[in-house]
Amino acid sequence: PEKRTFVQRSQESWQAGERLSEQIFTLPDPIGNRAGAELMVRMDTHLQAASDQLKLVIELALGELSSQHEVVHQLSLQLGVILVFFLALVTVMVLIGLSLVRHWIFAPLEQLRAAAEQFGAGNLAYRIPVHGKDEIDQVAETFNHMAATLAQDRQVLHELAVHDQLTGLFNVREFHRLLEMEIIRAQRYAHTLAVLMVDIDHFKAINDRYGHETGDRVLQQLAARLRGIIRETDLLFRWGGEEFVILMPHTGPGEAPALGERIRAAVAERPFVASDAHPAVAVTVSLGVAGTSAWPIDPDGLLGRADAACYRAKEGGRNRVESETAST
Ligand code: GH3
Ligand code: MG
Ligand code: MG
Repeated sequence: PEKRTFVQRSQESWQAGERLSEQIFTLPDPIGNRAGAELMVRMDTHLQAASDQLKLVIELALGELSSQHEVVHQLSLQLGVILVFFLALVTVMVLIGLSLVRHWIFAPLEQLRAAAEQFGAGNLAYRIPVHGKDEIDQVAETFNHMAATLAQDRQVLHELAVHDQLTGLFNVREFHRLLEMEIIRAQRYAHTLAVLMVDIDHFKAINDRYGHETGDRVLQQLAARLRGIIRETDLLFRWGGEEFVILMPHTGPGEAPALGERIRAAVAERPFVASDAHPAVAVTVSLGVAGTSAWPIDPDGLLGRADAACYRAKEGGRNRVESETAST
């Protein structure tokens, strides 16, 4: 409205000037004429006023332009700040996203890979940490369950591999392993070691008389009785059919025959209750003892001497203990 007013005024001044100029042209000789000069001065004043009004309009317009320019400048500054903030926000969100992906996906996958490596290397006691219930946790739980089952199966297989099924005693294979270990221990600590062979007398006759099942029952009960007699540190094995062997660490040639005698007496003194039909099966055993005090210990020599002693016990009439304690 302000500019409109100035333009109107300028127009009015211009029109007033125009009217005066028309008057000037009506004069017959405007140049060098007093009235013409006065008209020109007045016309000039009006034109000057018109020009001044237009200048005011231009100044106003320039003022507006400059304030608009300031607004645009402020806006562009604000936009810049918003853009920087937005970029920072996007960067932070991308970083958070990456760390979440790392935490929720890469780290658990790495744990699965490490576990597979451990299981593959035979470490079945290894367990993957499970934190939640998502898909990767479920896979981890399945892995853990699988490892536990494999460990159990392995344990069962191990038990089967080292034990005799009928008596539950260690078997021959385990005997050889433990004999080797005990020999190493005896040599390292300069201990003595004794081996005792136990062979049931006339077991074939027991089988023939009472039946094979009763024979089995006798073998089981003899195993239990032997276990009850030997010391906690002694190791008992089923050597073969009706033969047993006892490994006695830290036992010298002086003590071993006495232990053999205790075993012989404990077997002979009480018949075995094989079944209701056969409640009193008399059993005797012959024993061969071998010990050593010389190093290095020869396992075959030790066993051979115990076997030879047992053979002599048989030869000597059975139900007896023979010792062979010569050094290897
Ligand atoms: P000896 O006094 O000379 O040792 O005579 P023996 O009859 O005990 O010895 P022999 O070697 O002649 O016979 C061993 C018997 O043991 C023969 C076999 O049938 C029996 N036997 C071996 N293993 C088992 C088993 O697991 N169960 C049963 N019931 N008998 C077995
Ligand atoms: Mg035999
Ligand atoms: Mg026998």
